[in-house]
Amino acid sequence: MTSMIGLPRDGRDMADALAEARAALATGDVPVGAVVIGPDGGIVGRGHNQREATGDPTAHAEVLALRDASQRLGRWRLDDCTLVVTLEPCLMCAGATVLARIPRLVLGAWDPKAGACGSQWDVVRDRRLNHRVEVIGGVREAECGELLRAFFVEHRGGLAEA
Ligand SMILES: [Zn+2]
Repeated sequence: MTSMIGLPRDGRDMADALAEARAALATGDVPVGAVVIGPDGGIVGRGHNQREATGDPTAHAEVLALRDASQRLGRWRLDDCTLVVTLEPCLMCAGATVLARIPRLVLGAWDPKAGACGSQWDVVRDRRLNHRVEVIGGVREAECGELLRAFFVEHRGGLAEA
């Protein structure tokens, strides 16, 4: 399902994505966070789920982090960046990852219900598209998953519906 060519820094980058995820809790949003790592290894984009905060169905962590990175770098093509996200991207975010030409995706928890990077779909490695993404899955998976589980227990009686 995944190529597992993880780098030592992936775990540290995921800690930054987890910090973003926790920021979503302030507005009652599902705690998903993302960071974009630029060519020099620094964070060039950040985002956390703001669907409730903004009333915007597209305000997912990955989309916001990609927009932040593109704004900072002054270009839409992020072909020298890594996207790090606490939960396997959905169809929209997997599509946005392909459109941004991201070469490398690091994800924390898999999303068996709605994941589009190997679980329900595999948009980022679809041979019909002109760009494919290397996927490194399961980085700090337990922490990323536990944050979500705790949220759903508190807010929706345990129903894991992201
Ligand atoms: Zn999404």
